[in-house]
Amino acid sequence: MRDFTDPNTKNESEEILERSLRPSSLSEIIGREVEKKNIQIMIDSAKKRSKALDHILFHGPPGLGKTSFAYVIAKEMAVPIHITNGSVLDKPGDLAAILTSLENNSVLFIDEIHRLKLNIEEILYPAMEDSVLDIVIGKGPNARTLRLELPQFTIIGATTKLSMVSGPLRDRFGMSFRLDFYSDEELQQLVLQKSRMLNVNIEEPAALEIARRARMTARIAIRILKRVRDMAVVDGREVIDYEIAQKTLGLLDIDDNGLDMLDRNILKIIIEHFNNRPVGLSTLAASLSEEPDTIETVYEPFLIKKGLIKRTPKGRVVTHIGLREYGGEHLLGIEEY
Ligand code: ADP
Repeated sequence: MRDFTDPNTKNESEEILERSLRPSSLSEIIGREVEKKNIQIMIDSAKKRSKALDHILFHGPPGLGKTSFAYVIAKEMAVPIHITNGSVLDKPGDLAAILTSLENNSVLFIDEIHRLKLNIEEILYPAMEDSVLDIVIGKGPNARTLRLELPQFTIIGATTKLSMVSGPLRDRFGMSFRLDFYSDEELQQLVLQKSRMLNVNIEEPAALEIARRARMTARIAIRILKRVRDMAVVDGREVIDYEIAQKTLGLLDIDDNGLDMLDRNILKIIIEHFNNRPVGLSTLAASLSEEPDTIETVYEPFLIKKGLIKRTPKGRVVTHIGLREYGGEHLLGIEEY
């Protein structure tokens, strides 16, 4: 159940489906008006100047459109896109091999760019700035630096942890966009768009209900839509209405606020085990048998956005709204943080 609402986890069939549902132009991207406008100007300018697009960094929680933007940008620029991940580049040679094989003006998408090792990152600096690759040959006093010219290219970086991207790397991106959570209305539009792509008939109230309970996250909305579609097929219904959506969400154990079991457990532990005294991330993760990283990048941002928990210098506490809605009324007014 947990994997269902963790937008970090994806299986193979989901990867394939996601690829087929990706927007193929800027106009197909729902919402994100400011980002689209800025990117369109950058693209138009690069095209007019016949130059590679400036480097762009996207950051924000998983499942909110970072990868989609990278693909759309490459498509709009009509250039090839190459995909890699900060965690798989082990040696400087791994990155050098990719950089030297890029076509002119192409896009290199580096997902989880915060996971790049420092010695690999250092190769990127001159590559991003001057399109050159500095290779050190030999060791000690005999070491020499060989400079190779690279083609013009664009790095599109994506990260869920901006704070872990070093200053010098951040500075080398011409533009940086934070992709925040979606509003219910935007996600409703997204559910309607993906339903058309999947040839699924859905009524607007059903799409809104899925949107409302999808953790403000595109990937989760798509996942719920698929489960609701399955339920409609099994029930022999041609059209997805509000009732089928409700029934499926109930079976998935997603509550009225869109919280899943783990979200609710986070609130429960802070309320019941700690009487709403501030709880540190590692203590919270240990109590839930979860990775601190997952709590920090997936669960916490959503619960904070919903106004259910907040961070204090001493740790996480449940807000008044959270206490009222999740069984902590007796702790209202007792604030020790
Ligand atoms: P991230 O890279 O941030 O984890 P993705 O770009 O992979 O997220 O998005 C997850 C899914 O949601 C993809 O299938 C994508 O098509 C869809 N999606 C995300 N944002 C939008 C959007 N603004 N418009 C249309 N589809 C979107």
